[in-house]
Amino acid sequence: MLTSIKGRSVIVTGGSKGIGKGIAQVFAAQGAKVMIAARGEADGMAAVEELKASGADADFCQCDVSDWESVQNMVATTAEKFGGLNVMCANAGGFPQTKMVDMDPSEWDQVMATNLKSAFLCVKASIPQFEKAGGGRVVLTSSITGPVTGFPGWSHYGASKSGQLGFLKTACMELSRYNVTINAVMPGNIYTEGLQDLGQDYLDTMAASIPLKRLGNVADIGNAALFFASDEAGYITGQTIIVDGGQIIPESLEAIEEI
Ligand code: NAP
Repeated sequence: MLTSIKGRSVIVTGGSKGIGKGIAQVFAAQGAKVMIAARGEADGMAAVEELKASGADADFCQCDVSDWESVQNMVATTAEKFGGLNVMCANAGGFPQTKMVDMDPSEWDQVMATNLKSAFLCVKASIPQFEKAGGGRVVLTSSITGPVTGFPGWSHYGASKSGQLGFLKTACMELSRYNVTINAVMPGNIYTEGLQDLGQDYLDTMAASIPLKRLGNVADIGNAALFFASDEAGYITGQTIIVDGGQIIPESLEAIEEI
């Protein structure tokens, strides 16, 4: 049983859908005050209404995480609404699948900005609020794709997710003076709106290649994020946890067929 995080102020970027929505639901169920941030207002407000219907204190802030002014505004709005900031879940990201031969260089830049620069912007904007609060927690959503595995079409995505982990190492040192920890969850294939866009064939093939024989659900990631944000994880920083149903383990197709 973790110490209650009731009343803590939490931002979840990309909280309008998928993994972010799952993180928001897990934190809200523990009594945290949750700010959902995303570009699309309709999905964001719908996610907030769902949280409020279950009795949570939640709000939506429109934000493009690749834009510095927008990120600063998200943090300021949250601090004003909830009286500070305790946890930053920098989760928003995108995964367009394009092989290098077909990729316009602008797509590379856009994925880096959304997935990697955003981590830096979200952390940088949070530091003054964490300093005021006497501490804080950052949880990044990285991936197995890039740091551990590869997949055709995701050279930019994999580089951005590995880049997050490079950022994590130095960020954990710089943030320690503010009593802030930073850690990353590395999901395998999690059933989300974004993953559904890749098609049923992709989903079926992936599920068959996972030892636990199913895609992950968003609460699987939310629970790992909650642990990193808990008091009990206060001495863990600069670390990662893979949440993938064992996906990275099999050595070969035969190995998975043996199960
Ligand atoms: P998703 O279902 O497509 O949801 C993405 C969320 O991010 C949405 O709320 C989206 O809202 C928001 N977003 C995207 N670009 C944004 C921007 N520039 N500014 C602010 N918000 C933005 O994706 P997901 O599958 O939940 O993935 C979430 C995170 O998990 C990503 O970082 C992804 O790389 C990572 N991940 C996912 C999986 C998986 O299997 N699903 C596996 C490993 C890692 P708007 O579009 O309205 O802005």
